[in-house]
Amino acid sequence: MKNSRLGKLTALIWIANLAAGLVVTILFAWVQLSPTAAANVPGKANGQSLFTLTITPRPTITPIPPPTRRATITPWPTPIPGPSVTPMAQPPANRSVIGYSIEKRPQEVFRFGQGDVHKLIVAGIHGGSEINTIQLADQLIGFLNEHPEYVPQNASLYILRDINPDGTARDHGVDGRVNANGVDLNHNWPYNWKLDWNRDGCWIWRPVTGGTYGGSEPEVQNLINFIDKIHPQALISYHSAALGIFSGGKPDFPPSIQLAQAIAEVSDYPFPAIDTGCDYSGNMTDWAANVRGIPAVDIELTNHRDTDFDQNLRVLQVFLNWSR
Ligand SMILES: [Zn+2]
Repeated sequence: MKNSRLGKLTALIWIANLAAGLVVTILFAWVQLSPTAAANVPGKANGQSLFTLTITPRPTITPIPPPTRRATITPWPTPIPGPSVTPMAQPPANRSVIGYSIEKRPQEVFRFGQGDVHKLIVAGIHGGSEINTIQLADQLIGFLNEHPEYVPQNASLYILRDINPDGTARDHGVDGRVNANGVDLNHNWPYNWKLDWNRDGCWIWRPVTGGTYGGSEPEVQNLINFIDKIHPQALISYHSAALGIFSGGKPDFPPSIQLAQAIAEVSDYPFPAIDTGCDYSGNMTDWAANVRGIPAVDIELTNHRDTDFDQNLRVLQVFLNWSR
C-alpha cells in the first residue's frame, strides 16, 4: 500500500512536470512569434529583450514613379530685344536734296522723266500757311510714280515739294508762313527786292520781312543754284488761296502770259489774277522771268484746304507739253 501511494505521488509529480514544461514551451513559442507579445513578457524592461529578439521591419516598397514628361525643349533661345532701330528707308531713286533750310531740313526734289526739256514745279514757298500746296505736290509725286508715262519722252519734270520746310514744321497755319529768320521767301528774290513794302492789299496776319538783301536766305539761294543747274524751260510756283494765276514778269514777260493762258484754259483758276493792290516785291516768278528768262506762273489753289487734284492733273498735262 505504502509503495502504491508513493508510486501514485511520483506519477503526479511527473505529470505536473510535463504539464509545466508544456506550458513553458508554448509560452516560449508564442513569444517568438509575436513581437507585440514580446513587449509584455515579464523580465523585459526598457525595450531590452531578454531574448535579443530582432524584428526586421518589412522593407518599405517605393512605388515606381509615373514617367515624368519630357522637358520642353526650346529650339532657339528667345532673342533679347535690342534698342529699337528703325531701318533707314531707302530713299526713292528719283529723289534728291537741293540744299538745307536754316534749321537743316532738306529741300527735296523729285525727278520724273529723262528728257532734255526741263520743267519745274515749286510748292510750299509759304510753308505751313499754304500746306495744301505741299499736299498737292505729294499727290502729283505719287501719281507720277504710278504713271511715269505721263511725262513726255523729251521732258523731265522736277517737283520741289517744299522749299520752306522750317515754316511747314513750325505751324500749319499763319505762323508757318515765313522761314526761321522771319522772312517771307516770296519777297526775298534778288529782283525788284525791297527791304520794306507797302502792305496795303498784302498778307498782314503776322509781321514778316523780305530779308536783309535780295537772296539773303539759304532756302532761296539753294533754289537759285538748282535753277541755274537744270535750266528749266518753264516754272510753276503753287500758292493758296483763291486769287488765280499770276504771270511772272514785271514788266510783263509775254511767255509767262502765254503759259498762264494755257493753264487757265484747262482750269477754273482765273487769269489775270484778282488784284488786291499788293506790292509783290522780290518774288520768285518775276525773278525767273525777268532775270533768267524763264516763263513762270504763280497758281493759287481755290482755298487753304483742298488740293484741287483733278484740276491740277490737267494743268500738269498742259505744263508738260507746253513750249513757248
Ligand atoms: Zn503764297
